[in-house]
Amino acid sequence: MTVLITGGAGFIGSHLCRAFLDRGDSVICVDNFITGSRENVKNLADNKNFKLIEHDISIPLYNINENIDWVLHFASLASPKDYITYPIKTLKSGLLGTHNCLGIAKAKKAKFFFASTSEVYGDPLIHPQTEEYWGNVNCIGIRSCYDESKRAGEALAYAYYRQHAIDIRVVRIFNTYGPNMQAEDGRVVSNFIVQALKGEDLTIYGKGNQTRSFCYISDLVNGLLKMMQTDYKMPVNLGNPKEFTIKELAELVLKFTKSKSKIKFMPLPEDDPKKRKPDIAKAEKLLKWQPKISLEEGLEKTIEYFSAKLG
Ligand code: NAD
Ligand code: UDP
Repeated sequence: MTVLITGGAGFIGSHLCRAFLDRGDSVICVDNFITGSRENVKNLADNKNFKLIEHDISIPLYNINENIDWVLHFASLASPKDYITYPIKTLKSGLLGTHNCLGIAKAKKAKFFFASTSEVYGDPLIHPQTEEYWGNVNCIGIRSCYDESKRAGEALAYAYYRQHAIDIRVVRIFNTYGPNMQAEDGRVVSNFIVQALKGEDLTIYGKGNQTRSFCYISDLVNGLLKMMQTDYKMPVNLGNPKEFTIKELAELVLKFTKSKSKIKFMPLPEDDPKKRKPDIAKAEKLLKWQPKISLEEGLEKTIEYFSAKLG
């Protein structure tokens, strides 16, 4: 089959491109490299089934000659540091980008797959978060450009499903990490590892008692591929349900890097969610999926990647 992946040069997108190519599928990767890197797709470029289109998906994309089976919309600013720097571009990827991707799916009679996020739950008032929870989002806060763009993206997907019978899948991805993240993208796992490897202070925002649940990239990719094999149209959480405080994460990174770095406490950004942990009962039942890689194991692999990258 042929898949069109937006954001294919990004962290998750590049692993997805690789997974499809390994299965013998053809991949059309659409990326404007705002946060993705050419390095991430360098080793895919020689594959005859791989095509790269440098394009901003907020602008309509015409003239695709190939038949397409799936449009997977992964393009978005995704790290708080990035989306707070580019709030308008973030909204445009979720609104106009999703609209353009649905338009391609409709024209090509393809299925549409939307990379949504745990951020649709905002600073959640129920714990863990189930797909039925409607969320607690500050619609004018500094994170709203991302949260609301993804909520609107989901709404657009369901509008196309209801009005045009477009076959859709929606996954709500929880904090995922691993090789191919950008060293400077500001997310907590890459930040701590890079700081520890460089001997710089690890920057904990707030007291470090906020929680996140970290999923290793190979587990996520397995879940995404399984989601494509189901017929289920409603949103599904994908993430690792094992919850850690940010302070625990910092301590693990120091242990595995054997770094002498210290911890530095800094102000907590506005609207930073206090707790986050996916309820994955739906994914377990529907997809027979569970993450397999522990945080300890995933950190070791990610540290190895960044060590090589930083030299
Ligand atoms: P990333 O920043 O590494 O990748 C995003 C990619 O999209 C980059 O290659 C970037 O250049 C590209 N892009 C952004 N705007 C674009 C546009 N307008 N046109 C074309 N390309 C554009 O981030 P990621 O972590 O790989 O995230 C991928 C997707 O998964 C995003 O939609 C994100 O919201 C979602 N997601 C990720 C996580 C996570 O923990 N990594 C969690 C929840 C949701
Ligand atoms: N964080 C931190 N230090 C950093 C980067 C992030 O303490 O250098 C915290 C951040 O405040 C949040 C958590 O780690 O509570 C996860 O942040 P990230 O940017 O990875 O993504 P989020 O889950 O907030 O979308």
